[in-house]
Amino acid sequence: MTKIYNFSAGPAVLDPSVLDATALVAKDFKGQGMSLMEMSHRSTPVMDMVEETESLVRELLKVPDGYHVLFLQGGASLQFSMMPMNLLGDGQTADYTDTGAWSAKAIKEAQLFGNVNVVCSSKESVYNHIPKVLNQTEDAVFLHITSNNTIYGTQWKEFPTPINPDGYLVADMSSDIFSHPIDISKFGLIYAGAQKNMGPAGVTLVIVRGDILGKVDRPIPTMMNYRTHIEKGSMFNTPPVMSIYAVNRTLVWLNDNGGVEAIAKQNEHKAQKLYDEIERHPLFTSPIPVEDRSLMNVPFVFTDEGNEADFLSFCDERGLKTLKGHRSVGGFRASIYNAMPEAGVDALIEAMREYKV
Ligand SMILES: *Cc1c(COP(=O)(O)O)cnc(C)c1O
Repeated sequence: MTKIYNFSAGPAVLDPSVLDATALVAKDFKGQGMSLMEMSHRSTPVMDMVEETESLVRELLKVPDGYHVLFLQGGASLQFSMMPMNLLGDGQTADYTDTGAWSAKAIKEAQLFGNVNVVCSSKESVYNHIPKVLNQTEDAVFLHITSNNTIYGTQWKEFPTPINPDGYLVADMSSDIFSHPIDISKFGLIYAGAQKNMGPAGVTLVIVRGDILGKVDRPIPTMMNYRTHIEKGSMFNTPPVMSIYAVNRTLVWLNDNGGVEAIAKQNEHKAQKLYDEIERHPLFTSPIPVEDRSLMNVPFVFTDEGNEADFLSFCDERGLKTLKGHRSVGGFRASIYNAMPEAGVDALIEAMREYKV
């Protein structure tokens, strides 16, 4: 059988050790004679596992004191509304950067709760770059960014600073969390759906600074209130323990491989190789300026007219799967998250070199 490499943007590739471990606990969790799926989330082995997962998040990202780490449900999409519901008071303003379809969805939800000032947008050019000028509001409660734009393949290389000294950054890091070291202290809140770079769908990571909560007057439904989940250690309602377990194994794997500092170097190396090939290759080109290129999602298109379906099936026959670009961009997209081995990138480069029109 040909080795398969999955270049999907999400749900995305997981390390084989994660799949093996998850398959085992689907039958028997830690010698309990029961599947993890059948066990109470309040039983000691499960509570310990969730606690260990939180510790791994804290260690790997060097989360400072004063920040809470939560495992929630509803995906990053629920955070688009839950976050401003908790942080943006009626009549207050939040600044948002519009760098992709996910940013636009976040903007739409925030408008339900307060004033939203869109400080920059690359929408006119199909989000093919990160704008350099932000027209921020003096008294914005927070400045929201999408750290990596999964669909378009752009990434913030340096995070902007809110001009309001009492303001803070909020980030949707769904597609690049744990891909490189970040200074958490710059952020009031970070959220990320797991299924890109951290595990399977079903669990969403939220890291929130405690002192920014409890400042809005509106009533907040219990399940939508971060304080509920903080008080109950992410166990107010039944958590998705299988998904959390897969995140646990992913973080153990990451930790065993040198943590985010080491993976950042590998990610840079993998992406550089692929971008170099795209640059060098007469058939392909990148739609993104060098300085904004994502290390996680690498879109590329034919330099001239070409038969996209033909290249995709050429790749598919070689075990290189899900390389089709998003419909809004066209062409191809190779998502090369943490768990994509360098051999997968090499196999793609080889296919590009051997492809004949
Ligand atoms: C995939 C993605 C989302 C949506 O995540 P869900 O978990 O499906 O809600 C949001 N933001 C970014 C940047 C994404 O890549």
